[in-house]
Amino acid sequence: MKKFFGHVAVIGAFISFSFPVYAHEAHVHGVAQMNLAVEGPEVEIELDSPLGNFISFENQPETDAQKQEVRDMALIMREADKLFTLPPAAGCQLQEVSLESDALSADLLSPAGVRQVAAQNETGDEQAGDGHADLEAKIAFTCRNPEKLNSLTVNMFRAFPNLHEIEVQMVTPTGQKAAELTPESSTIRW
Ligand SMILES: [Zn+2]
Repeated sequence: MKKFFGHVAVIGAFISFSFPVYAHEAHVHGVAQMNLAVEGPEVEIELDSPLGNFISFENQPETDAQKQEVRDMALIMREADKLFTLPPAAGCQLQEVSLESDALSADLLSPAGVRQVAAQNETGDEQAGDGHADLEAKIAFTCRNPEKLNSLTVNMFRAFPNLHEIEVQMVTPTGQKAAELTPESSTIRW
């Protein structure tokens, strides 16, 4: 797959409003990819980013300090209604946040570090990797007044200073659009 979606690929990928499970085509430190889908009362955000945009390493955490760094990051991510602002009049409620990374075990990413039975293989394939890892976040809101949904402000840049740019592909009631968010310009409108 090409580094960024071509126009045709975007139409194909979004035709059913379901997110494509795309390959990690772009691992550029400082840059994250985001898919935004607004359909009726549902707002779905899928973020795919180098892990290093959110914490100071991209390998499996070894020290307690590194594990704590992951928990702190997960805590910020789980409060996604602070990271993503929708119009108050739309009456949106955060429904779901799921976090996943090949470098991080599920228990570190889950609320309060609760150990999950299905925690992924902690021995991992560290030596098989290239020293880089991504974080994938899926976030869903449901809104009482979807007709008021016309913008999204992303507040991630202040929370995560290593993040400099988010490349957005969006499907909303007004159509498909691409946008680029930076700390200076962090609102998308449709
Ligand atoms: Zn990397």
